[in-house]
Amino acid sequence: MLRVFPSGPLETNAYVFYCPATKIAAIIDPSLGSSQPILMFLQEEHLTAQLILLTHSHIDHTADASILKRALSLKIGVHFLDAPNVVAPGSDGLPRFLPVEPVEPDFFLNEGDVISIGHLQGQVIHTPGHSPGGVCFYFPSEGVLFSGDTLFKGTIGNISFPTAQPDLMWLSLEKLAKLDPKTKVYPGHGPSTTIGSEPWLKDAKHYFN
Ligand SMILES: [Zn+2]
Ligand SMILES: [Zn+2]
Repeated sequence: MLRVFPSGPLETNAYVFYCPATKIAAIIDPSLGSSQPILMFLQEEHLTAQLILLTHSHIDHTADASILKRALSLKIGVHFLDAPNVVAPGSDGLPRFLPVEPVEPDFFLNEGDVISIGHLQGQVIHTPGHSPGGVCFYFPSEGVLFSGDTLFKGTIGNISFPTAQPDLMWLSLEKLAKLDPKTKVYPGHGPSTTIGSEPWLKDAKHYFN
């Protein structure tokens, strides 16, 4: 029910996550160059994509959002604190090191919001730290978490950017530490892990500060 497309110079993971029963799909973090392989995959699997969900606004995670939105008339969701950088890429002051078109979000993702993808139901967890509007997507029945650049296998996202908030990062990681240890974690970069394989999460400040 999911496929990963590592794309762009930072090998940013774009995901297609879909409901096998209804064939309805969401695209998470459409990274640079992911749109063509994603469009082919949707066609091959007879999937209907409805949403683009952004874990945050860094341009390596949003670069192909405008292409996919146009191609499939998708609705784009992002946390309101990261929305300005989607509307005007580079407005967060970070280097605009990739080609990326501005795009309008269609809805905001808030803590606790329910996301429906066919019969799959997930929830938005606000995880600021790496960026102010960073979110994770948690699907408890599937045992799946999309963690963006908040949590990677064995480490965490960059918290030295001017827009990062290290103190909030520790709290965000504590939130993730409370999820079912069996939860499979699909991060914004690199291989997957599980919550239980990252026992340092609740104490991350001591490891990464
Ligand atoms: Zn990032
Ligand atoms: Zn990233």
